Amino acid sequence: MQDYDLFVIGAGSGGVRCARIAAQNGARVGIAERRHWGGTCVNLGCVPKKLMVYAAETGRMIEDAPAFGWDVQRPSSFDWYSFIAAKDREIERLNGIYISMLEKAGIDLYTGDAKLLDANTLEIGPSVLAPEVPVQRIRAKTIVLATGSTPVRLDIPGSELAITSDELFHLPERPQKVAIIGSGYIGVEFAGILAGMGSQVDLFYRQPLPLRGFDEEVRTHLKELIDLHGITQHPGTTPVRLEDIGGGKAVRLVTDDGVSYEVDAVIMATGRRAAVDSLGLEAAGVAMEKGHVVAGVDGKTNVPSIYAIGDIRDQYNLTPTAIAEGHMLAEQLFNPQGRTWSFETLPKAVFFSSPVGVVGLSEEEAAKDHDLAIYTSRFTPMRQTLPKRAGKILMKLVVDRHSDVVLGAHMVGPDAPEIIQMLAIAVTAKLTKKQLDQTVALHPSTAEEFVTMRTPTRLVDRH
Ligand code: NDP
Repeated sequence: MQDYDLFVIGAGSGGVRCARIAAQNGARVGIAERRHWGGTCVNLGCVPKKLMVYAAETGRMIEDAPAFGWDVQRPSSFDWYSFIAAKDREIERLNGIYISMLEKAGIDLYTGDAKLLDANTLEIGPSVLAPEVPVQRIRAKTIVLATGSTPVRLDIPGSELAITSDELFHLPERPQKVAIIGSGYIGVEFAGILAGMGSQVDLFYRQPLPLRGFDEEVRTHLKELIDLHGITQHPGTTPVRLEDIGGGKAVRLVTDDGVSYEVDAVIMATGRRAAVDSLGLEAAGVAMEKGHVVAGVDGKTNVPSIYAIGDIRDQYNLTPTAIAEGHMLAEQLFNPQGRTWSFETLPKAVFFSSPVGVVGLSEEEAAKDHDLAIYTSRFTPMRQTLPKRAGKILMKLVVDRHSDVVLGAHMVGPDAPEIIQMLAIAVTAKLTKKQLDQTVALHPSTAEEFVTMRTPTRLVDRH
């Protein structure tokens, strides 16, 4: 039986960072992964999704090229098969990088399914990636649960006929007609990707606006952009059943208002749940609530030797926060002088085309505790003028009227995630609107608008 100072279950963004920082600080570390080295982000999430966004945007750039003098044909079709193959090659390369990074850090790698036997013992057995591995027992002073999350399907008749984002990344061909259920991150992003690749997309969601939880003005603006992309939106609508109408090749979706739609594929983008199945949490006595492990941002569970980071504890559910949690935990355990992050000013992006980028408070959140000055600007990006491409940028600052501190920054428009990442420094540093105004504009750029908005669009009193 192997003995470790720290053993991590799950080699995704959070687990890998935790293992690596612990090993760098002198701990003897092991890590187990059953499916994908690099986890969801690298294999079934951020990375392949962003490559798909680039693929969809490339089509739009080719469409716009004649307006800039280029003699090119309008793209007529998208070769899904060759794109998926290229994407898979890139991901295989990244898998290799993750493995060698862990090995170079002196960490022992185990491919297989890990399950807890008690608070300090676990067993690793065969998994999809390693069906032949012998069962091994491992003891560790500290165990970190970093198994992430997995997509959930609506509990409606025929839900097994739908796919989730997991399957979408490996479909043999691109569906021509597709229904997407859910208008959170994944629903909105895949609506943009598939429409950009030429699919006819219907987006079903139960709210009046997409992206519940985001700033209302951002949501309204995004809804208009989704329309401009030719995506048919069905707000206030919930699918009640799916029926197979084509021997597995076509699906009928029936909604709560009794209307039915026939499509090649239904994608359920209806949230994710913590990946805790067969993890042996009961054997080790780890407390759960609503399907996820109960742990704070410091990773502490009710069992002193067991910690949980990332999506398994269902708080932020983003790659950078899982990385930060893993990093902080490793340093808390093996180098207490370590780094901290400001989770209150967490920047977020939704990679629609144009993307959404936000940091800090929405107007609705801020108005609960602050009297506000709201600055907004809407304009057509210069790049869209010659091709006459429709769709405006929205930029918005939420400012405390008394302290002048910028509480939130929001943008829908090209490069919003890049711009908001930089503005997140200002919001984290609690800079004032005056300090933004003192910053000289960089012209001509889109980002300059964030330092040139002089007059509030409206004042909002706290409610
Ligand atoms: P989200 O929680 O973002 O959205 C879920 C969607 O499903 C919402 O529209 C929700 O509606 C709807 N829904 C949930 N239950 C039901 C139901 N019973 N009936 C009808 N509709 C329902 O989840 P996603 O699957 O989009 O993404 C999962 C997580 O992955 C995100 O929370 C995010 O943390 C992460 N992610 C991050 C990305 C990024 O950073 N760019 C990209 C992709 C994923 P309602 O709003 O009414 O609840």
